[in-house]
Amino acid sequence: MRWLVAVMVVFSWIAQSAYAQPRATIQVNTAGYSACAHDSSWIMPQRPFRIYGNTWYVGPHGLTVLLITDPAGDVLIDGGIAEHTSLIEENIQKLGVKLHDIKWILNTHAHCDHAGGIAQLAGDTGAQVIANVADTPLLKRGGHDDPEYNNEFPFPPVNVERSVTNGESLKLGNLLLTAYSTPGHTKGNTTWSWTSCEHARCMQMVDIGSLSAPSFKLIDNPKYPDVVKDFRYSFAMVAKLRCDIALGPHPDMVDFWDRVAKREHGDANALIDPGKCRAYAIDAQKNFEEELSKQRMSAGLAK
Ligand SMILES: [Zn+2]
Ligand SMILES: [Zn+2]
Repeated sequence: MRWLVAVMVVFSWIAQSAYAQPRATIQVNTAGYSACAHDSSWIMPQRPFRIYGNTWYVGPHGLTVLLITDPAGDVLIDGGIAEHTSLIEENIQKLGVKLHDIKWILNTHAHCDHAGGIAQLAGDTGAQVIANVADTPLLKRGGHDDPEYNNEFPFPPVNVERSVTNGESLKLGNLLLTAYSTPGHTKGNTTWSWTSCEHARCMQMVDIGSLSAPSFKLIDNPKYPDVVKDFRYSFAMVAKLRCDIALGPHPDMVDFWDRVAKREHGDANALIDPGKCRAYAIDAQKNFEEELSKQRMSAGLAK
């Protein structure tokens, strides 16, 4: 009988250690994706810090990666560039957060500078990847056959385990994150919104999906015939969102670093600006309509 007890103890020890360990690290091949980091400021190291309440900045300097914490599990939004996930993982750990505490990785859009690191991060954390249903195919094919970039900026394919639709909310512990589809920049470009509190003071946080159209083919694009209609929908959508603290996949989109600097110099509310989402949308639409007019003119169409 004693041998049986010994065997059971050993089995129970093995089972417990399996539970105690994070899911096995999966190594992702990140070689061959260097075209993505064409702006060196994107991958400059950046110390992690609290943005507001349970929302933290953990990205490199030029690519926003957000960590939202809750006792039930933590959430990351975006994953930076494929070769540079170590910058993000080190930042997360500097905050005292364990990688396997991250339960979900969300994505703003399926471009290499925001989705490139997700496969590796998912492998290292064991987190479930959640993305907009309209960007899921592009994530799964690693950015290949992008309607604007074709095969120019591939990234390691992402195993999306759950897809969300416009207006869908996700609940994890006390966190409630809502996905607003803001298509145009990609077909499934997403603006994420949630609430973060400090004591009783709560802020509506908004990570605005990019509304820029850099070198995009806006007319007669067979791979995205509705691109103009989608962008215009998204400008109106972002402009009307409740938005106390505006964030974006590129910090510069919303003058993030200027506002952080002001806060560090004593203006405690420098990050809070309920008009910022609207201002960004108006500015992005102005640039968009100018570019569209140019493209219409060169195509010989009426302005
Ligand atoms: Zn993009
Ligand atoms: Zn980008």
